[in-house]
Amino acid sequence: MISFYPGPSKIENNIDKYMQDAFEEGILSCNHRSDEFMQLMQTTIATVKDKLEIPKNYEVFFTSSATECWEITDQSFRGKKFIHIYNGAFGEKWANYNTNKKVEKYKYPIHRSISLHHLDAMEAKSADVLCLTSCETSNTTFIHSKTLQKIRKRYSKPLIFIDATSSMSGINMDWLSADLWYASVQKCFGLPSGLAIMVCSPKALSNLNQEDKHYNNLYSIYKNQQKHQTTHTPNILGIYLLNKVLQQRPHIRKVENELKNRMERLIKLMQKLGYDFIVPTTRLRSPTVLGIKSSEEKVHLIKQEAKKNGITLGNGYGTWKHNTFRIANFPAHTEKDFKNLHDFFRKIEKM
Ligand SMILES: *Cc1c(COP(=O)(O)O)cnc(C)c1O
Repeated sequence: MISFYPGPSKIENNIDKYMQDAFEEGILSCNHRSDEFMQLMQTTIATVKDKLEIPKNYEVFFTSSATECWEITDQSFRGKKFIHIYNGAFGEKWANYNTNKKVEKYKYPIHRSISLHHLDAMEAKSADVLCLTSCETSNTTFIHSKTLQKIRKRYSKPLIFIDATSSMSGINMDWLSADLWYASVQKCFGLPSGLAIMVCSPKALSNLNQEDKHYNNLYSIYKNQQKHQTTHTPNILGIYLLNKVLQQRPHIRKVENELKNRMERLIKLMQKLGYDFIVPTTRLRSPTVLGIKSSEEKVHLIKQEAKKNGITLGNGYGTWKHNTFRIANFPAHTEKDFKNLHDFFRKIEKM
């Protein structure tokens, strides 16, 4: 079975071997305050920063999931005025998790880009935090890096937080255009779930709520990190695998290029076969997940046939559950996987 589900998705090819390596090297039996673990932390962070081209003065942290990051951004930036900018289920959930007093929501339509006029009217200039979702996995929209740069330029005061769960390590993030980025590893990283990566700018770190007493408060995570430590026993296997997987991947620019080309080819094929997409505008479509619209019966049939052909397609999500399906285009997928997928869609057209 090849999984094109947008997370958990296809696991990186050599994971079984890396797991065996972890077992044999004995790292899994090492205490998380040991030199061996601290060395692994240091190496892994260096690998992440190198392969993803993260600026030197940004910090990389490990958490358990993107969902945990929703709580961390709520608790560790207490009392701030937030504006959540979203157009789908994940962005909305993040907004709804935020228990701060001043939380405003700007829900924009999926066929439009984010409106700066609208943000002006919401007084985004005086907000403390703007929250955005890079790729809204549920409806497959994407925020173009130029849009992010425009937002960054226009609103210089607020911190900018980005849920980059289904784009980090697939797309080259313009790190300087935001202050806090996070992603869980079961999407573009091609790893088993249970680990997430958070990337923070110095500006984000200088605004932390030091009164936050939750075990996972970002201030403690940061303080521990400086000693190559963690606040609690972390997912050591996950960190080990992350390092191994990224080490054997090309640099992010090359990865991004390959994904974008592959997505273009997929879109061309699907267009030729007469499919519609959830997101009508090319520019607003994610390079990492494609959402395809059809009738309920046809979606059901396609998914069933795909299973018979060893292919798992992603279900629709939330309001899009029944009349859409999604295809992940992640770095763990190979050219051969996509050739199989193309062959499959051509084949069922003849049925
Ligand atoms: C998958 C996903 C999440 C949730 O990730 P968890 O690891 O389940 O917490 C959050 N945001 C986006 C955009 C996602 O795609």
